[in-house]
Amino acid sequence: MHDILFEPVQIGPVTARNRFYQVPHCNGMGYRDPSALAEMRGVKAEGGWAVVCTEQVELHYSSDITPFIELRLWDDRDIPSLARMADKIHEHGALAGIELAYNGLNGPNLYSREVPMAPAPLPIATFTCDPVQARRMDKTDIANIRRWHLDAVKRAKLAGFDLIYVYAAHALGFLHHFLSRRYNDRTDEYGGSLENRVRLLREITEDTKNAVGDTCAVPVRISVDELIGEGGLYKEEVEDMIGLMADLPDLWDVTIAGWENDSPTSRFADEGFAEPFISGVKRLTNKPVVGVGRYTSVDRMASLVRKGVVDLIGAARPSIADPFLPKKLEEGRIDDIRECIGCNICVSGDFTQSPIRCTQNPTMGEEWRRGWHPEKVRPRTTDRGVLVVGAGPSGLEAAHALGKRGYDVTLAEAGTQLGGRVALESRLPGLSAWIRVKDYRELQLRQLPNVEIYFDSELSADHILEFGIPRVVIATGSTWRSDGVGRHHLSPIPIAGNATVLSATDILEGRLPVGKKVLVWDDDHYYMGGVVAELLAERGFETIYATPASEASTWTRNTMEQHFIQKRMLEKGISIRSFRALESIENEVATLSCIFTGRRETLDVDAVILVTARISRDQLAIDLRARSSDWQDAGLEGVTVIGDALAPATIAHAVYAGRKFAEELDEPPHDGGSLPFRREIAELI
Ligand code: ADP
Ligand code: SF4
Repeated sequence: MHDILFEPVQIGPVTARNRFYQVPHCNGMGYRDPSALAEMRGVKAEGGWAVVCTEQVELHYSSDITPFIELRLWDDRDIPSLARMADKIHEHGALAGIELAYNGLNGPNLYSREVPMAPAPLPIATFTCDPVQARRMDKTDIANIRRWHLDAVKRAKLAGFDLIYVYAAHALGFLHHFLSRRYNDRTDEYGGSLENRVRLLREITEDTKNAVGDTCAVPVRISVDELIGEGGLYKEEVEDMIGLMADLPDLWDVTIAGWENDSPTSRFADEGFAEPFISGVKRLTNKPVVGVGRYTSVDRMASLVRKGVVDLIGAARPSIADPFLPKKLEEGRIDDIRECIGCNICVSGDFTQSPIRCTQNPTMGEEWRRGWHPEKVRPRTTDRGVLVVGAGPSGLEAAHALGKRGYDVTLAEAGTQLGGRVALESRLPGLSAWIRVKDYRELQLRQLPNVEIYFDSELSADHILEFGIPRVVIATGSTWRSDGVGRHHLSPIPIAGNATVLSATDILEGRLPVGKKVLVWDDDHYYMGGVVAELLAERGFETIYATPASEASTWTRNTMEQHFIQKRMLEKGISIRSFRALESIENEVATLSCIFTGRRETLDVDAVILVTARISRDQLAIDLRARSSDWQDAGLEGVTVIGDALAPATIAHAVYAGRKFAEELDEPPHDGGSLPFRREIAELI
């Protein structure tokens, strides 16, 4: 039924071995961590992807997107690190693709200090609103950029790439800006009519094709819609543009602009969200088409090909969550696929200039640094068993990876279900896909005869000492605070005894306030405050959301959700009060203050929900340590606290902590005197 997905596809002069195509995606490693990046791409090729691409690669020093860390191809000295990546991809029989980018309006040039150039003299359109404007490109600049692009193409070919992109998508590159009337007010032959706006894209595509001859394929990446109506690029207009170039590129890579619309989280878009935009492109060209949609369902993917929507299944996030997705499908191991949960923690790596991480795949970004592999772990080196206490993301991942290593694992969970915080949080509005963190691990644990799971087992120090299992992992999680302590207040705020105050844990466990009007005070700044407010509004409460930050859920800028979150909150009638600290809570009255002036105001509310910080549930570890004199008799050798029980953080941190414990068990102890991971250091010249 799914064989169609494993048919080869001709892309110009090269052949993809199947229809699984890892489209270009950023990763926060770029030029700083070339070997780590090369290994990560190589693992995807090993996992069966037919095409594995780079992220956007800066093609010339006059357009850099500092502080973002992407790859660079500024001169010949950049070739070896790119060649290393192409080699890693080729080692496993995949094609290597490179996305050459000239950011123009999106490159503030904070590194090179060159004056940015764009079709029109506009402010730089970066996420950080850099106080820099671009100057208008003249004819000489355009000729220069064509030459620079060509130089980069030649270098990419030398580095060994099989597909060399012309990038005109996501409003992130100058070619997109030329296409869009929003950015292009030119009156010369590069502006105005559709033909004129397409001219430079056509010229650069022709230059590239002429340069590579029949050695490499030349895909064009374009955005069919900017989702702002006819003021921006829209589907019919871009289809006309594609029609003008129909068979010139070897492949059309079709996206939506901006990036936040092309990679929306599962909270705001379902699998296949891009299909209405991609549909129709194939009838405009005889060349293959690739498009994304966070696809993990094999039926859906096969039907997309059968219906003639795409020829190749594009994926960034599904290939991050499971680099072995194609192999697993080919081998009929559908249950073994680690499905992307659509949380965009991977994207946050790029936004925070830190190596990519993934909630579902803790090995992502650690392939070279720590030698981790998404499918393989070293066999155990001792036969001493392990007790894992707590079956949240950290406990589940620890039990899974330890079980795969061959250890006898006992997993004890106080409750009646697996998943810990994801079991609770996935019931919140929009977060249902997060349950996949539990589902994947539960299915894997069931296949491991050496892992035993016990429910309804709230363990005490006495129990653990009775068991006599030599190694104990405490993964008992955390609870949300109800005293106001967080980032703004470092000590508890005054709360009257008769005031109604709930924590996020109360809400997660299904306890709702009584009354009509509630205040959610968010000093956490990730998703929880916003989503709790959304839940309360949905349940009919008049909801006020206050935060010391300038906007709701401000950290979600790093997952590209902030705009969507604030829009949804406003549409649900939630009143958002920015720059507000919560000073005290009395019966039915909350006092807020302006974080700048200190001016106070009171709000009449029936209840206050505090979303500020969490407290580790680590009493069990404290009790066990207090009994250390009993350990030897009980056969207990070591107790390690991991995940939220050690220090609350994201689900991705918890999964990583579980994996790290499992990877390092029975390794020589590490005292921090040397680095526990590899890094690359710039060579001095
Ligand atoms: P993490 O994110 O670190 O994995 P979670 O809060 O998601 O942490 O999960 C912790 C899990 O540990 C919860 O399912 C909770 O029921 C369980 N737990 C807490 N205390 C105990 C205990 N003493 N014995 C067994 N399970 C426990
Ligand atoms: Fe998917 Fe989240 Fe992993 Fe990104 S971090 S690939 S969105 S599971």
